[in-house]
Formats: sequence, C-alpha cells, structure tokens
Amino acid sequence: MALIVQKYGGTSVGSPERIKNVAQRVARWKAKGHKVVVVVSAMSGETNRLIALAREVQPEPDARELDQMVSTGEQVTIGLVAMALKQIGVDARSYTGPQVKILTDSAFTKARILSIDEHNMRADLDAGRVVVVAGFQGMDADGNVTTLGRGGSDTTGVALAAALKADECQIYTDVDGVYTTDPRIVPNARRLKTVTFEEMLEMASLGSKVLQIRSVEFAGKYKVKLRVLSSFQDEGDGTLITFEEEENMEQAIISGIAFNRDEAKITVQGVPDKPGIAYQILGPVADANIDVDMIVQNAGVHGLTDFSFTVPRNDYARARKLIEEVQKHIGAKELIGDDRIAKVSIVGVGMRSHCGIASKAFRALSEEGINIQMISTSEIKISVVVDEKYLELAVRVLHDAFDLAHEPA
Ligand code: ADP
Ligand code: ASP
Ligand code: MG
Repeated sequence: MALIVQKYGGTSVGSPERIKNVAQRVARWKAKGHKVVVVVSAMSGETNRLIALAREVQPEPDARELDQMVSTGEQVTIGLVAMALKQIGVDARSYTGPQVKILTDSAFTKARILSIDEHNMRADLDAGRVVVVAGFQGMDADGNVTTLGRGGSDTTGVALAAALKADECQIYTDVDGVYTTDPRIVPNARRLKTVTFEEMLEMASLGSKVLQIRSVEFAGKYKVKLRVLSSFQDEGDGTLITFEEEENMEQAIISGIAFNRDEAKITVQGVPDKPGIAYQILGPVADANIDVDMIVQNAGVHGLTDFSFTVPRNDYARARKLIEEVQKHIGAKELIGDDRIAKVSIVGVGMRSHCGIASKAFRALSEEGINIQMISTSEIKISVVVDEKYLELAVRVLHDAFDLAHEPA
C-alpha cells in the first residue's frame, strides 16, 4: 500500500464529465489499496476570469483582496471532486488550503509555503477517506488567504507529498509528460521518459509551464518522487523527474527547448563607463521589486557604454518610468525599450561536457535570418532574446538543429 498525491490541473477538471473521470481514476487507485490525496486547480479559464473581473473593479487590484477572491476557483473544484467521489461510493472530504492549515508568508499573489499541518489529512486517510485539497492557496499567520503564484497548484501537490512523505506525487495534466519542447508549438516534440531535476528546474524557470518552478524546487529539496502524466489516458508512465546520480542511461546532450514570451527589454545608451553605473541603473528597479533577468553591458568606447536588461513584460511600464528618472541623473544619451521580445533557451546537462552547442544554435538561427538581440549562458543552458514574431520559428529551428524529435543514439 502506498500513499499517493495526485494533482489535477485546470483542463483535467474543466467540466462535470472530466471531474467524474478524475473521480474514476482516484477510485481505481483507492481500490488497489492505496491512500490518495487529491489536489485540484480551478476549472480551466476560471482563474483568468476571476483576475479579469477584479481588474474591471480595480485596475491594479489590491493584492490581499485579489487572493481572497481568486482562491475561490479552487474552492469550487474541491467540492465538486469530493461530490463526484461520493457519488461513486468513495468516501472523501474536501479542504481549502486554510482548512488544512497550509501556512504561508504574507506575499499575496506569490506566497511561499512555510509549513503544513498534516493532522487532519492523516486522520482522514487512516479512516479510509480520500482527501481533496484546493491547490494554489494557503493562509498567512494573520489568517489572510494567500495564493502561491500562477500554476501554484503544482506546488501545493508537491508540498503535500513532502509533508506526508508520500511515495509519489503525480501531476496529471493535458499532455502525457514533459516533452522536448511545448508540443503545441512543435508537433513532433518527443516525450521524455525521464528528465533530471536540474534540467526540469531550468526548463520551468525559463518558461515551460508544465510544472511551476517552485514545485520542482520543493521536489528536489525534499526528494519527492515526481511524475507528470496525462489525465486523458488510462495508460502510460508519463515523465519521471530523476536525480542525475540515479541516471545510468545514455544522457542526451540537449534535453529540451524552453521559451518565454513574458519578457521586455530596456537599453540605456551612451552611459558613462565608470564604477557604480550598473548599481545606479538597477538599484531602483530592484527596490521596486521588479525581477531583472538578463543583463548585458558592452565594452566602453570613448568613455561611454550601452547597458541592456530584461524584465517581466508586466513590469515593463513601471521599469521604464524608473529608468527615465535614472537617465536624467546619470546623463545617459538615450533610452530604448521593447516589450515585444521573447526568450528561447536550450537546456541540457550534457552541455557541460560538450562544446560547440552555442555555435550550432547561433548558426541555425542565422540560417533562418533570426537576429539574436541578447545572449546569456550557464553550465546547462543557453538563452537568446529574439523578436517575439520569430519565437515559434526559433523554437522549431533549434528543435530540428539538435534533432530532438529523435531519441539520442
Ligand atoms: P495544468 O492546467 O494541468 O496545470 P498547464 O497548462 O499549466 O496545465 O501545463 C501544461 C501545458 O504546458 C501543456 O498543455 C503544454 O502546452 C505546456 N508545455 C510547455 N512546455 C512543455 C513541455 N516541455 N512539455 C510538455 N508541456 C509543455
Ligand atoms: N488556478 C491557478 C492558475 O490558473 C493555479 C493552477 O492552476 O495551478 O494559475
Ligand atoms: Mg499548471
């Protein structure tokens, strides 16, 4: 007998029929003698709908009140899933995040889980019940409802699995595993049987939304066995996220291509090339809690240099205003902004031991006439910024260049 946490995403609970399917799957695992905790997202589209509704009332919604209302999407689905289970004779009980006592910090809309009280869940599981928990939400020390950031139900699933020391955390979604890239963009993308935590962390942080990055961090930290599967198929092993050291099969050099449209670029031209300039430019941006991603500064010519950086597209307008102020102080010549850029990244642990990956990627892009605006690299990834209109082409070209549709020989 095992303890399994199953997380179902928005599409998987998107209609009464699908909710009934979820109940059937849970019942099958239960019938095999396993203890099952189910974590659910809101029905697909619901979270977006709620956020849009909030914006109609307050264009920049108050973060506490936004969490209060956006968290209701998941409250609907836990009730429905518990009902669907009871309807087929499986005893179940639903809990919101606060009812479980998922304690978070108070960073509304992007709260972090601090602790989980497993007492109620254990009691239900021991009494033979399925426990159904709302994903994406928790409660801070003052009793305020908080949410965990978009895609946060993945993190609830993994965090519950860690707290309950579950044998496996299964993430059921609308694709049957982690692919070499988003199969909606590249139809011949290939499902990976396994992917290392390190690679999954990079892919998630670089934009692959199949798993929220914090869920991967949690799984790595607490050694949770994590698997991505389809809720629309009865068979299949999905993709297992593995620790590299366990991996003895031949490792591909490149595992996948991630991309992110949510990017904008700001360039300050003609900046005096002297100590303290990077701090003067980026200090106010950091103080405004805006995440800076890539940073590029050119070598100075005649005492002047250019300085570029990227920020999330949502923060572009705010960042630009701040830099307009900075520009006056430091006497920079010009400010250029672009919120129609995208980032494409090649990820693979095998890059560590192979050279020539970057040049192969750059060549493939140049053959399609795609201009690279910025580059950043780490041991296991290469990212480039391109014009948003070339994003899908760039992803396809790189997928082909590294022959990712075929299993490595
Ligand atoms: P859920 O609602 O189940 O949480 P998401 O929409 O958050 O589902 O994540 C699943 C989606 O992630 C897929 O439909 C797919 O379009 C997208 N995706 C992006 N990159 C990948 C990838 N490398 N492998 C699989 N899916 C990916
Ligand atoms: N419903 C939330 C969202 O759409 C959380 C999730 O689906 O994981 O972001
Ligand atoms: Mg998701």
